[in-house]
Amino acid sequence: MNTGLDKSQHELEQLHKQILACRLCRDKFGFEPRPFVWGKANAKIMQISQAPSLRVHRSGKPFDDVSGQRLRQWYGIDEAQFYDQSQFYITSIAHCYPGKTRRGTDRHPPVSCARLWLEREIRLVHNEIFIIIGSVAARYFYQDRDFTSLVFDNHLMLRNKPAMVLPHPSPANWHWLAAHKDFETQVLPGVRQIIHRTLNE
Ligand code: SF4
Repeated sequence: MNTGLDKSQHELEQLHKQILACRLCRDKFGFEPRPFVWGKANAKIMQISQAPSLRVHRSGKPFDDVSGQRLRQWYGIDEAQFYDQSQFYITSIAHCYPGKTRRGTDRHPPVSCARLWLEREIRLVHNEIFIIIGSVAARYFYQDRDFTSLVFDNHLMLRNKPAMVLPHPSPANWHWLAAHKDFETQVLPGVRQIIHRTLNE
């Protein structure tokens, strides 16, 4: 029995109830927020992205979209591994889909959500590594760093644990991926190796 882990799991379940009940951004969004939570305190990998998409807002399942398909390809894992809550803790800067801008793109996630909820999740989950997805999430943790240099940095740390920063896998991010074709050859093989080693320990 691991009492520290049990205590964290209990506190995390209490925290999840609070997150799921949160409606702080209702007026700002102009619609009913639908927070998501995914993962257990013993998850080996904590993945932090920007915010759920409209599709995820409807399904309630994180990365249940084309971004998720590409991400799992990058990781070299299947859905069963990705959605195993003892393997991946999946969270984001905002726990709700934030709506669209007038131009039709997703609004930026409210950073207040990360300060309120994400920081507490980070304290309770016993993950071994972090994966940070996309420039918005990367900016929250590494304010002064150039995004591309973070992606190509293989000695990155976050809160005293190894971390990796990946571009957002959304089709809307095609311009970054097209401009950095060496991401697939120089970065992804190492990412896959670390993920598989961590999951198989
Ligand atoms: S985005 Fe975060 S702070 Fe806003 S309603 Fe959702 S859970 Fe609450």
